[in-house]
Amino acid sequence: MQKINVTIWNEFRHEKEDSPVGELIRGFYPDGLHNCLAKNLAADDFVIKAVSLDEPEQGLPDQVLQNTEALLWWGHCAHAEVNDELVTKIQRRVLQGMGLIVLHSGHMSKIFRRLMGTACRLRWREAGEKERLWVVSPSHPIAQGIPETFTIPHHEMYGEPFDIPKDGDLVFMSWYEGGNVFRSGVAFARDRGRLFYFSPGHETFPVFHDPVIIKIIANAIRWAAPAQAVQDRITAQPDALEKIYSDNPLAALDTSGIHQTKQKEEA
Ligand code: ZN
Repeated sequence: MQKINVTIWNEFRHEKEDSPVGELIRGFYPDGLHNCLAKNLAADDFVIKAVSLDEPEQGLPDQVLQNTEALLWWGHCAHAEVNDELVTKIQRRVLQGMGLIVLHSGHMSKIFRRLMGTACRLRWREAGEKERLWVVSPSHPIAQGIPETFTIPHHEMYGEPFDIPKDGDLVFMSWYEGGNVFRSGVAFARDRGRLFYFSPGHETFPVFHDPVIIKIIANAIRWAAPAQAVQDRITAQPDALEKIYSDNPLAALDTSGIHQTKQKEEA
């Protein structure tokens, strides 16, 4: 069985807050969102590592990033603290084939905005209202085994307009009790990498304990992880994929005939 190296990156700041909200969050996520996700996502085909912002090299030393096939990203209040150099390295890995799953408030992270090229702003309201999600692409691999519709009893509202590019595949749509709608699950391709944005996961609700949400994230990991052939190539020669665009498989083609025809036409 092909095992997927999954790294779960979490900002891990809210969980440590010395406040009633911090206490509430710790009630759901005593070891942080990342460790809860690691525990709930555990599967035979995943090798999971949970890391966070305040660890050495912001949790992602080169060796870890190079070994990661699917990276999960949860951040909220400390997006600006993530090193631009690290963001560039992650972007490069995604373009080479690493899968990236951006969760909830990660929509404003540097890496997501870098890969989208847009502001990624959205409308929001923290009223603990009901969210109903709908599968809008039943044939998409990320929607396999997911009910056509399901609810999160209480969640933060994320609403349209959501400033992301139009080239994503819409997999989930959300409706909120307050009337708003939102593209809550969108899948993108960027060069050889796949990226999935999924909006559930506000820290003051136990969203990452919901088995349907966990199944969607697990599906997204399996969908986004690079095919074995791509992964083998990245592992063997980390820079090999950079050469794809400079190596010209048609370099041996004799184009002199084309040029002659052109000259003839011009004459
Ligand atoms: Zn939130």
